[in-house]
Amino acid sequence: MSIESDQKLPGGPADKAGLFTLLAVCAVVLAAAVLAQFAVSTWSIRERVLLALVAALAAVAGHLLRRDRLTDRRLVAERRQLSIAVNNIPQGLVLYDASARIIICNQPYLDMFGLSPDVAKPGCTMQRLIAHRKETGSFDGDVDAFCNAIIQKVSLGKATRQLTEAPGGRAIEIINRPLKGGGWVATIEDITERKRAEEKIAHLAHYDGLTDLPNRILLRERLEHSLTAMRPGEQLAVLYIDIDEFKSVNDALGHPIGDELLKGVADRLRGCLRETDVAARLGGDEFAVIQTPIKDRSETTRLVAEIHSAIRQPFECMGHLITTDASIGIALAPSDGVDLDQLLRNADLALYGAKGDGRRTYRFFEAGMDQRAKTRRSLELELRQAISDGSLEAYYQPVVNIEDGKISSCEALLRWRHPERGMISPAEFIPIAEDSGLIDQLGLWVLNAACAEAVTWPDHVRVAVNVSPMQFRSQSLALNVAAALAACGLPASRLELEITEAVLIRDDEAALDMLHQLRKLGVRIALDDFGTGYSSLSYLLRFPFDKIKIDRSFIRDIAGPGASSSIVQAVVNIAAASDMTTTAEGVETEQQRNLLYILGCTEMQGYLFSPAIPAAEVRRLLLSHRARAMSAA
Ligand code: C2E
Ligand code: CA
Ligand code: CA
Repeated sequence: MSIESDQKLPGGPADKAGLFTLLAVCAVVLAAAVLAQFAVSTWSIRERVLLALVAALAAVAGHLLRRDRLTDRRLVAERRQLSIAVNNIPQGLVLYDASARIIICNQPYLDMFGLSPDVAKPGCTMQRLIAHRKETGSFDGDVDAFCNAIIQKVSLGKATRQLTEAPGGRAIEIINRPLKGGGWVATIEDITERKRAEEKIAHLAHYDGLTDLPNRILLRERLEHSLTAMRPGEQLAVLYIDIDEFKSVNDALGHPIGDELLKGVADRLRGCLRETDVAARLGGDEFAVIQTPIKDRSETTRLVAEIHSAIRQPFECMGHLITTDASIGIALAPSDGVDLDQLLRNADLALYGAKGDGRRTYRFFEAGMDQRAKTRRSLELELRQAISDGSLEAYYQPVVNIEDGKISSCEALLRWRHPERGMISPAEFIPIAEDSGLIDQLGLWVLNAACAEAVTWPDHVRVAVNVSPMQFRSQSLALNVAAALAACGLPASRLELEITEAVLIRDDEAALDMLHQLRKLGVRIALDDFGTGYSSLSYLLRFPFDKIKIDRSFIRDIAGPGASSSIVQAVVNIAAASDMTTTAEGVETEQQRNLLYILGCTEMQGYLFSPAIPAAEVRRLLLSHRARAMSAA
């Protein structure tokens, strides 16, 4: 403390009157400054204390002004009070007179800079004080230039503000406010915590809280900057990355595991990038990357391959092993646009294209994607309508025993008769239904229609219904199946559900549970499209399927020189060893049929026997088959 109660204040009575006026003004200025701060911020306890102290300072100074009426004892007491008040302000406070000499300098000020009370005391000049700071290491500028600049400013009635660093790396803010009667008051505040909080807020405004990747705002800023910095001949790529079926992970395993997965994805993305590239999280399961600069698109193709391979490695999330994949849309600058918004829109459209092409893949932006996206959106609206107005129809494709040609089951395949566009393939509208959430309604409709139809068939003919992985997100799938069977009286053993390995890709206990629940009902479960996607034989071991349907891409090449026939052979062998039947999909020629027979495949399905046909035709076909069988017997 540089004013002690027994310390002599400088000057005679006239000086003292000036000093107290100054103190009162100073208190008012401080109070005004603090109040101005309150106007924009919420009151912290520290600030309330400061306000109280400033008010106390004002009161003490006011009393001292009336010192003539005070006794010496009271004067000493008031000084002590003033001293306590000034030294308890958390800010440093230095009051200078018009000749730039210290009138008051409080203890917090000395503490902040580690100054000696023998130097920083009333009467000391500002030059001497700053020189002392230089000697003790808390100032490293030019003492005279620094002091002159402040003195000049305050003498013009202007306030100054500086940021400086105190020992220990603390951030200090010094504000010099001129006073009316000459002189000025310097408040010195340690704003380290405030600065940290501000930096944290600024960080939160630009970074994603979960993954700590830049957010959409910062991505836009970085992209804008990269576009401006792009040199002639250089390009850059914007990648939009969507985690496939993330929603199922979140729904089935819960948000904490979903969050872990997103953090894992963010880490792997970071690992794929160069220093000049930027990864960001746009929200939900959408990420983006700016790859800059690049010479040509092959660099982007390589990065995409790297990202895909990184994301496809299983993630260990809170004891769950999760496998996932990504759809990636890419727009290049300058070829797909040099405008920020246009580039982002085109990357998004390309992502939409990648998702529409079955996900787990990437697409570069192409002109026309915009149109396709619009068509897709209008199809979504129309599909919603179609479900309720009866323009959907289930066709049925017979599955026959390879050995004796008898129909063992029929697979229900959806058809949409569009009023303007004619028949729309399910390959086109099922992904739309999956994306829009319509798949549950659609799936329920087919399930009921197919069960009701199968009741009219001979007892030994089963019906197969495709179930989308998305339908496994609903807890009520088994319940819906049981209700559909009960509604028409179809025995559970005559219903076969076809699922794809996408259901099993994640180490998803909930999906496996659901499969077991379905199996308990007595329905059969077939693994569809085996050979596409990952086609790991390990999926066959995760659940005891009743049937494996070998994808038609294998059947198409089965007579060729590739490895198709040996793969079919391997699948048939595994299936036979586990009591599963095998169905070859897409059999179109006699040659394929004969080869499949030799390889030991159980059943076949394909144009060689029949395409999918309307329900009425299936009934006729089944009748004629029965008649033929009976006449043969
Ligand atoms: P999928 O389950 O693999 O169905 C077999 C697809 O192959 C059908 O196409 C069928 O018409 C076609 N196909 C059958 N035999 C041959 C052949 O010999 N050669 C060729 N080139 N193709 C053949 P479709 O009906 O267009 O269905 C496409 C996909 O749409 C289906 O593939 C299935 O994944 C999905 N899908 C169809 N109906 C439903 C449904 O009700 N629910 C769900 N979730 N998906 C469905
Ligand atoms: Ca199928
Ligand atoms: Ca299939």
